[in-house]
Amino acid sequence: MTGASNARAAPPGCVVRAGRWTVHLCTPDEALHWVVDVEGRLLAGHVDGLHHRVGLDATVVARTPGLRGAARRLPPAEGDAVLAAAAGALRVVAEDLARGAVPLQLDHEAPPDAERARVADLLRRAADRAARPEDERAAFARVYRPVRVLPPDCAQALVAQLTEGCSYGRCSFCTLYAGVPFRIKPPAAFAAHLEDVAALLGQGAALRARLFLGDANALLAPMPSLLQALGALRARFPEAARGGVDAFVDVFSGRGRTADELRALRDAGLRRLTVGLESGHPPLLAWLRKPVVPEAVMGLVDRARRAGLDVGVTVLVGAGGREFDRAHVEDTAQVVRDMRLGPRDLVLLSPLVVDAASEYARRAARAGVRALAPDEQEAQADRLRAALSGGRWRVSRYDLERFVY
Ligand code: SF4
Repeated sequence: MTGASNARAAPPGCVVRAGRWTVHLCTPDEALHWVVDVEGRLLAGHVDGLHHRVGLDATVVARTPGLRGAARRLPPAEGDAVLAAAAGALRVVAEDLARGAVPLQLDHEAPPDAERARVADLLRRAADRAARPEDERAAFARVYRPVRVLPPDCAQALVAQLTEGCSYGRCSFCTLYAGVPFRIKPPAAFAAHLEDVAALLGQGAALRARLFLGDANALLAPMPSLLQALGALRARFPEAARGGVDAFVDVFSGRGRTADELRALRDAGLRRLTVGLESGHPPLLAWLRKPVVPEAVMGLVDRARRAGLDVGVTVLVGAGGREFDRAHVEDTAQVVRDMRLGPRDLVLLSPLVVDAASEYARRAARAGVRALAPDEQEAQADRLRAALSGGRWRVSRYDLERFVY
């Protein structure tokens, strides 16, 4: 498709399918497929056999098809080249659509001629936006600190950052919030943030199926602020609020939260807490510099469930390499089984990704810890899945590399 940027006509068989909130541009063989939102923002595409997802900040993640397809966050220059090619394709199809040379399929009731003109304009706008990724980056940076990761079923959530960064920030394997000072937004700043988010997303907010209260430790905010924030968030985005509000929590940010407080948060709209366990093997947790013990995570999970909240529990696949392999799998499976999670709860298997500049990399080198090869890491994930099968909870893959907001 990259060559399509210089094409003078839409590819053979190209069709535009328009809904109220998205427009798809695709060829019958799916060699070319781009998805644009109602604001003319490129969301995703299929190009040269790769799936691409495009973030609000113009970050592009490419991955090979399939459940275990490898994902890669493209460096800005490479991502911008993909967007430039998309811009070329969108522009050509927009003009062919406007003059009736490309079929338009509607999935809603609307006058066809007016829709053709609207969708052609939308594709032109999408082409302009895709051609200027630096504008998208700047607009995003005015509203958000980086949104590093969300649970996999929250990929389409609308994020509001009540807090920024991580209050701890010293887990050896984690560089997610490096350079982002932790802060809790006062109510007025949070209210302004919600308006900024609404302005950034525009009508595209209609595509967001739930809400996420970021960042890593939102539950560290005082209870009155939390309750107020949940109320303001749900009132500002009532459509997305129907899917409930999610948040991350760690033992050190949730330790002080009683079951009564968690129940009050649930009553205010909180739906699920995703808790960082990472491992059920205490020596590995210590080695990872994760300041928790499994019993404390189990206590927090128990309180959350008694309060009527769903929980997600993250497990770091491959943590501690070959040296910890067996004990990590055995102890983690035991701890998760002992949590007695329910059918709405999730265990999230997150493959370890080691940043060469991380404390983890330095510690592993010093201690001679041998990393699992990619196939060994997959095998460990399979063993964890097998050890966790038969429970009422769901087990899902949680791939940082695939995430883009
Ligand atoms: S793993 Fe969680 S608690 Fe640890 S540094 Fe990263 S965001 Fe913070």
